Amino acid sequence: MDKSLILKGIAELLNSRQQIVITVHTNPDGDAIGSALAFGQFLQKLDHDVHIIAPNHFPEFLAWLPGADEILVFEQDVKGSRAVLAAATLVFCLDYNALHRSGSLQDDLFKLTVPRILIDHHREPELDAFLWAYSDTRVSSTAELIYEFIAYYDFDKYIDNAIAQALFTGIMTDTGSFSYAINQAETLEIAAKLVRSGLDAVWVHQQVYDTFSENRLRLLGHAISNCMLVFEEFSTAIIQLSKEDLQKFHFQIGDTEGIVNYPLQMKNIKMAVLITEKKDTIRFSFRSKGSFSVHEVAKAYFNGGGHANAAGGSLKTDMSSAVKQLIDVLPEYKAILDSSN
Ligand code: 5GP
Ligand code: MN
Repeated sequence: MDKSLILKGIAELLNSRQQIVITVHTNPDGDAIGSALAFGQFLQKLDHDVHIIAPNHFPEFLAWLPGADEILVFEQDVKGSRAVLAAATLVFCLDYNALHRSGSLQDDLFKLTVPRILIDHHREPELDAFLWAYSDTRVSSTAELIYEFIAYYDFDKYIDNAIAQALFTGIMTDTGSFSYAINQAETLEIAAKLVRSGLDAVWVHQQVYDTFSENRLRLLGHAISNCMLVFEEFSTAIIQLSKEDLQKFHFQIGDTEGIVNYPLQMKNIKMAVLITEKKDTIRFSFRSKGSFSVHEVAKAYFNGGGHANAAGGSLKTDMSSAVKQLIDVLPEYKAILDSSN
């Protein structure tokens, strides 16, 4: 369906005052949190009652965002989260394509009797789960879709510094600081509009990226020096981080963010994979450069998906079999990797 018709349909629901809950995916990133905060503050300006629920904790490098301290974390406050969900008249699902991506929140979202509305840029949205799905896989970030939403109303009227900071955080983090998914001029035009509205983009960048602890930086060094396997013949590099590696550097949520991108800095590496050992699962984070799609790999073998150049997945297994399973599928992709550009 035409995007403007979907916007119109959602806008009609917003004509009357709603009790809105905005939810994001598990392990929320800068785009999830930035989009939720920008959208929430915009909806408050339209006079709606708004709460944001994240399934689990978000990284500390997003805590400075205006309004972040009011986000309910489901796993930490199940009762409070259920109370706002019970009172909701509309629930928005931001930056994820399927209910199961909300992790611990999924059963509560599934049981809802009020409409769910999707705003997202991941591939293969679970359309049946939503009354409206404002989904576009061509945009850099969900934040870009929130910008479109605000622009549909009146950008100049509703933009303020807090919303601009949140939108810029979403676009900046989902494009690796404007290094990928930026071949559409609109992305850069939106960033320009945010700067023109008075946003200090350099300051925002510093808040998100220049706040490493010593442990986090040393973990990055350890990951690259000691935990990286390079498979030249498959244009692939794998970094594996065990629970012991993480404990050694006093791991905090967010500390592994960005590590997966480093192997792509090698000239002939087209796919990078970070494998981390979690409580009872193994997490996969995939990145690629060029036309090779990691979404396909994540979907086919690792219960996941995402975007062409950034995807994730997980397996219920141990570290060494997880690494082996990945190494075993590499030959299948050799021809595509070789011919991708
Ligand atoms: P990350 O590697 O940063 O966790 O995830 C990369 C991208 O893939 C993000 O846009 C994220 O939302 C998406 N993603 C991560 N894990 C999954 C998954 O299990 N399924 C799907 N469909 N997308 C995922
Ligand atoms: Mn996103």
